[in-house]
Amino acid sequence: TVGTEALHAWIREFARLIAEHKDLLTELDSAIGDADHGVNLHRGMSAVVEVLAKETPGRPGELLKRTGMTLVSTVGGASGPLYGTAFLRMSAIAGDAETLDGADLARVLRAALDGVVARGKAQAGDKTMYDALAPAVESLEESIAAGQPLGEALDGALRAAEQGRAATIAMVARKGRASYLGERSAGHQDPGATSVTLLVAAAAAALA
Ligand code: ADP
Ligand code: MG
Ligand code: MG
Repeated sequence: TVGTEALHAWIREFARLIAEHKDLLTELDSAIGDADHGVNLHRGMSAVVEVLAKETPGRPGELLKRTGMTLVSTVGGASGPLYGTAFLRMSAIAGDAETLDGADLARVLRAALDGVVARGKAQAGDKTMYDALAPAVESLEESIAAGQPLGEALDGALRAAEQGRAATIAMVARKGRASYLGERSAGHQDPGATSVTLLVAAAAAALA
C-alpha cells in the first residue's frame, strides 16, 4: 500500500524528472508547437514542490488536490488545465483514505485519464498525452487484476507508456497546437506524451 509520504515522493520525483528533461520537452514542443512545454511544466512542478514542502498535507487526497490546484494556477497553456484536472480527479478518487492499495492506484490513474479526456476530448491516435497515459492505465489495471505485485505492475505500465509515446512519432496531430500543422506534425514525438511518460516513470520509481 501507498501512503501520503510515498505519494509525496512520487510528486517530487516527477518534478525532478521534469527539471532533468526540461530542454528535451521544450525542444519537442518547438518542432510541433510553441516551444514552452518544458518551461510550463518546470514552472508548475517547482511551485508544487514548494507548496507541498511548506505545508505537507496529511492524506493522499489532499496532497493530490494541492498538486492539481497549484498546476492549474501556475502552468497555463493546454497542459496546465489537463494536468491540473488529472490531479484533481485523482484526488476525488482518493477521497479521505489514509493509504491506497494497487487496485486503488489503478482507479486513481484511470480517473486521471478520464479527467484528461473530459477536459481535452482527445481520442486514441490524436497525438497527445492520452496516447501514452491510456496504455499505461490499461496495463496497470490488467496487471493488478491479475494479482501482480505493485512494483511489477508499475514497471509494466511504464513500458506501455514508453511504447505509446514512441507511437506518437508517426501520428498526425488532431488536438492542440500541433494540429495546426496537419500532416507536417508527423515524424515528431509529442511533448505531452513525453512528459506524461515521466509521470509514470516517477510512479514506478517512487511507489513500488
Ligand atoms: P500549449 O500547446 O498551450 O503551449 P503545452 O506546450 O504545455 O501547451 O502542452 C502541449 C501538449 O498538450 C501536447 O503535446 C499534447 O500532448 C497536450 N495536449 C494539447 N491539447 C490536448 C488535448 N485536447 N487533449 C490532451 N492533450 C492535449
Ligand atoms: Mg506549448
Ligand atoms: Mg504555449
